[in-house]
Parts: sequence; structure tokens; C-alpha cells
Amino acid sequence: MSIPSPLIRYQPKADLLKDKIILITGAGDGIGAAVAKDCAAKGASVILLGKTVKKLEKVYDEIVAAGHPEPAIYPLDLLEASEEQYQQVGDIIDKEFGRLDGLVHNAGLLGSLIPLANHSSEQWIKVMQVNLHAPYLMTQACLPLLKKSDSASIIFVSSSVGRKGRAYWGAYAASKAACENLMQTLADELENNTNIRVNSLNPGATRTAMRRIAFPGENPNTLPEPEAIAPAFIYLLSDDSKAINGQQINAQ
Ligand code: NDP
Repeated sequence: MSIPSPLIRYQPKADLLKDKIILITGAGDGIGAAVAKDCAAKGASVILLGKTVKKLEKVYDEIVAAGHPEPAIYPLDLLEASEEQYQQVGDIIDKEFGRLDGLVHNAGLLGSLIPLANHSSEQWIKVMQVNLHAPYLMTQACLPLLKKSDSASIIFVSSSVGRKGRAYWGAYAASKAACENLMQTLADELENNTNIRVNSLNPGATRTAMRRIAFPGENPNTLPEPEAIAPAFIYLLSDDSKAINGQQINAQ
């Protein structure tokens, strides 16, 4: 089965994600917020997980005001949360929803863009925690719920520097590369005995706060907005991508 290219031009049907239950990390801002709103617009019940409650509430309000299925808010600081708190995410979603059809590992920390020689270990560990350790723990917590779905999709949000390292991208690049590998391992483990598919998606340059910090000299108006990237996520969360597993995909 071939993937539409470029994937951001994919045109989903209006109710493509009807009745699906989708957990999105980092859903309060940037790409995560846009994906959450688009999933809701396509009929999904979204669980908005993130650090800053105010931002999550804004996304919640926008979804409700648009008349889409009421989302749920799950405040969690992925950097500070204990393993038990990660496990609780699975337990609480199980009680409220009984299953999960989509898990988007979107939350990300840029860290410092600095030569490896000068990288601080403290920063290294923080970036690894949010970008790599959190998706690992969240996947473990959610696997029993994803197994209850007829057709579940896990997306690891990657980056071009996760596919090939680049000077100064230090912990961020290493964390994304490790996520690519984690994705492949999971995809292989789940391929024959579950209804879960696992892929990575590189959104490409997108007009968000993170991008502005990474490229301060760039004119943001030259970049697509997060809303323009969302169809790539919708494709991977929908049954249109049922046969796609273990792939490293580009949105743009
Ligand atoms: P933003 O900085 O706009 O959003 C990042 C999100 O991650 C925010 O919602 C933020 O929450 C959340 N987050 C960060 N730390 C934590 C934490 N400790 N606990 C919970 N949530 C946290 O970035 P983007 O939207 O640009 O990035 C989204 C994903 O896309 C990331 O994985 C990024 O690496 C990837 N990406 C982005 C590109 C781009 O050009 N924008 C290019 C390639 C990849 P809060 O605001 O509350 O801190």
C-alpha cells in the first residue's frame, strides 16, 4: 500500500476518525494542539495531555465551541512524572474510555543547540526524559488499552535530525534517533499478534514556538502552520493507513 505524497495534501473524509479515542501528548501548543483539533473535527474523542493546563483548556474550549466531541484534559509534566503516574494514565483512560485507538507521542523538548563538547549532562537527561523515556513509559502504560482496539495507531513524532545527526543538535537529535529505533522494535513486536501499527512521522519545518527558538533568523511566514501539517497525522491515525507499519514517514 502506498502512502499519499506529500502526506500533508491528504484529504480526509469529514468523519474519518468517528468514535476513535486518541491520546495526544503536548496537545496544548504547536503541532499537538492543531492535531488534537483536527482529530476532534474528524469525529474523535481526544485526550489532551500536557504540562500547561491553561493551554490545554484553550484547546478544549475551541473543540467544544466548534461542536466536536468533548475532549478530556490530562495534565501531566512528562519531565517530573513518576513511573506510577505514567501507569495511572493507562488506568484512568481504561476507566473513562475502556480502550485507545491512537497514541501520538508529540510532546518535545528542544534543549540547547550546542556542540557536544559543551553539552550539559543536566540538559541531556531532561531532553532524553521528555523525548525518549516519556514515550517509552507512555507506550507501556497504554499498550493494554491499544490492544483492545480493532485498529490502533502509535505515532512517534520525529525530526530530520533523528534520521541523520547534525552538528549542535546534541541530545535532541539523539533522542529522536532513539525514538525511530524504538518505533521499529515496537512495530516488529506488535506486527503479527496485535491490531496495533507503529510509525514515525517527521512533520518537517513548521511554524511553532520550538521552531522559532531553533531558527531565530528564519522568517516564520515562510513555513506552514501546524494546521497544514495535521492531515498527515489524520492519515496515520485513520484506518486508511491500516497496512502501514514500521515506516519512517515525512509529512512534507
Ligand atoms: P512546541 O514547543 O510548540 O510544543 C511542544 C509541546 O510539548 C508543548 O505542548 C509542550 O507543552 C509539550 N511539552 C514540552 N515539555 C513537556 C513536558 N515536560 N510535559 C508535558 N508536555 C511537554 O513544539 P512543536 O509543536 O514544534 O513540536 C511538536 C513535536 O514536533 C515535537 O516532538 C518536535 O520535536 C517535533 N518537530 C517539530 C518541528 C517544527 O518545525 N516545529 C520539526 C520537526 C519535529 P507546554 O507548552 O505546556 O510546555
